[in-house]
Amino acid sequence: MEAIDYIIDFYLGTSRQGPGDTSQTKKALSFLPAITEQTAILDIGCGSGAQTIDLALNTGAQITAVDIFPAFLNELNEKCRSLHLENRITAKEASMDSLPFPENSFDIIWSEGAIYNIGFAHGMHYLRKFLKPEGYIAVTEITWLADERPAEVHDYWVNCYQEIDTADNKIKVIVDAGYKLVANFVLPEYCWLENYYLPQKEKIKPFLEKYNNASGAVALMDEITEEIAMYEKYKTFYGYVFYIAQKTAD
Ligand code: SAH
Repeated sequence: MEAIDYIIDFYLGTSRQGPGDTSQTKKALSFLPAITEQTAILDIGCGSGAQTIDLALNTGAQITAVDIFPAFLNELNEKCRSLHLENRITAKEASMDSLPFPENSFDIIWSEGAIYNIGFAHGMHYLRKFLKPEGYIAVTEITWLADERPAEVHDYWVNCYQEIDTADNKIKVIVDAGYKLVANFVLPEYCWLENYYLPQKEKIKPFLEKYNNASGAVALMDEITEEIAMYEKYKTFYGYVFYIAQKTAD
């Protein structure tokens, strides 16, 4: 098994694959103008679709949800069937850096805990053309919450993701990419601890048993354990920030 196979298997069956909560998705929605049945939303890096379902249940919009891994899309499709949302949500296998959609297709682009996969700056630039004029983008992105932080946590996260930065600098990137900021807010800690890390902690032991402590499984569990410990120790220094921005004219 490759490393990625362990990752996919570990996160399948978890309710979300990134920090978040229904309340925060709804809060981000509250900054957008009225959403109707004609509104087209694109949700990228949807995973098994926690926020996709929230978007469908809290708006009347048509939603296209994209991920590169079919296993996550299958889980989303199952949820859609059980909630009778098949006519509202279309799950599509595609990479967020080569999207198979015409320009000016969407009123809103959504992405929770996923844009980092192609880099925040690149993602904000690349995605803009898929928005209709004056369309909105709402994304969560890991962000330093303090201007200074201990070397241990600084080095850990810069090594994981070079683009981690303060909200002020993220907002500059957003403006440079051709948007105006509408709102930004920090996700509360329970979005990480209760909704994201706790279910992972509970899965570690059974996962190692399932794979009989295969080295790939052990390596992944070690990485996850380190990431969780880092958050528990340094959670005042970083978090996820929801950024909501509007496309400005060319
Ligand atoms: N939005 C979900 C999942 C976040 S995890 C949630 O918050 O629960 C990040 C997701 O991005 C994963 O599902 C992963 O499969 C997906 N992903 C990674 N690289 C991608 C790419 N290039 N294009 C589309 N999706 C990608």
